[in-house]
Amino acid sequence: MILILTPNIEPESRTYKQLLGQLSRLGNIQLRVHREQGTQQSLTEIYLVGNTSSIALEDMRALPGVEGVVRVSEEYRVLGRHKDDDRTSHFEYRGLRFGQDTLHVFAGLCAVDTIEHVELMMKALRDNGQVCTRMGAYKPRTSPYSFQGHGRKCLPYVFELAGKYGIKVVAIEITHESQIDEINEALNRTGHATGVMLQIGTRNTQNFELLKIVGRQQEFPVLLKRGFGITLSESLHAAEYLASEGNRKVIFGLRGVKTNMGDPHRNFVDFAQVPVVRRLTRMPVCVDPSHAVGCRSWGPEGILDIMHATAQGVIAGANMVLVDFHPAPSRALVDGPQALQIEELPRFLEDVQIVREAYLRRTCPY
Ligand code: PEP
Ligand code: MN
Repeated sequence: MILILTPNIEPESRTYKQLLGQLSRLGNIQLRVHREQGTQQSLTEIYLVGNTSSIALEDMRALPGVEGVVRVSEEYRVLGRHKDDDRTSHFEYRGLRFGQDTLHVFAGLCAVDTIEHVELMMKALRDNGQVCTRMGAYKPRTSPYSFQGHGRKCLPYVFELAGKYGIKVVAIEITHESQIDEINEALNRTGHATGVMLQIGTRNTQNFELLKIVGRQQEFPVLLKRGFGITLSESLHAAEYLASEGNRKVIFGLRGVKTNMGDPHRNFVDFAQVPVVRRLTRMPVCVDPSHAVGCRSWGPEGILDIMHATAQGVIAGANMVLVDFHPAPSRALVDGPQALQIEELPRFLEDVQIVREAYLRRTCPY
C-alpha cells in the first residue's frame, strides 16, 4: 500500500511526525519513505510493506498529511499501474519531459569511433532539430577480441560536442558501476554541457547488483533494455529493481528477442508489446528498431525494414526511439550493417512524425 502525502510536506513538521506516530502502531508493517524533489515541489510517498490486506483504505486516507492511498498489486509495486492509481507517469530531465505522452528520438552512433564522426552526427542532429542522441562508449561484445568501445577516453569530446550542438541528453550504455564515476568526472570536466541517460543493455537486464547501484543514484535517468532471452515480466521486474532502490526515472526499451523465428531479422521484433508495457506500468516505452531488425533490407516500396519497425512501435504508442546512424557505415567499428546513413535522417524523422500523428489521431475517439 502506498500513502501519497500532501506536496511539500516537511519531515520536521508536526503533521508528518503525527502521521509516523500513527503508522508505527500498525503491527508488522515496515515503512519505506520515498521523497522526490521536483522543480516545482517535493513529493513524498510512504510504502507500507507487509501484509496490508486488513488495513482499510479509508483509515489511511483519514491520517494527517495523507492525500491519497493506492493499494498495490504484488507485481511492479513502484512502476506498475494499480487500481485507482493516478500517480504521474512522467519525469523531467535537462528540461525535457519523458512520459507515456511524449516522444523523443535518440538517433546516433552505436559506438563512438572517431571525433569527426561524433561531430558529423551531432551537427546533423542539430540541423534536423534534434536534442537527444545515442553514443556508445562502453560496448559489451560477444568476442573479447572485438572493439570494446573507447570508454572514458571519448567522453570529454562527446560531451563537449553535445554542448556545442545543443544536444541535451546522450544515451550511454554502462556495463559496470565504475563507469558512472567516469561519466560524472567527464561531465564535471566539461561543465555539464549536456545530460546523460544511462542505458542498461540486454545482456545486463538481470545483472541485479548493477541494477541496484544504478537505482541508488537519482541523478541520471535510466533506459533499461528488455532481456533478449527472458520473459517480458522478468524484464519488467528488472526495471522494478531500479525503482525500488529509489530511481524512478526509468524508460523501458523493447529491442527484439533472440530466436531464429525472426530470421532474416537479427531478433524477433516485439513492438506489439508497446501497449502491454504501457498498460502494466507507468514507464515511458522505447523501441530500438536497429538492434531488433539488425540489417538494411527494405520492402518492395523501398522503405527500410528498420523504418517499418520504427513505425510499428510509434503507431502503438512508443515514447522513445533509439536508432543507429553513422556518417560512414562501412567504416563503423560496431553494427555498421544496421546503421542508417546521415542523409536518411530527415526522411526517417519525417516518417516518425507521420506515424506519431497517426497514433495521436487513433487515440482521439478515446
Ligand atoms: C545498444 O543499444 O548499443 C545495444 C548493445 O543494445 P542491446 O543491449 O539491446 O543489444
Ligand atoms: Mn549495437
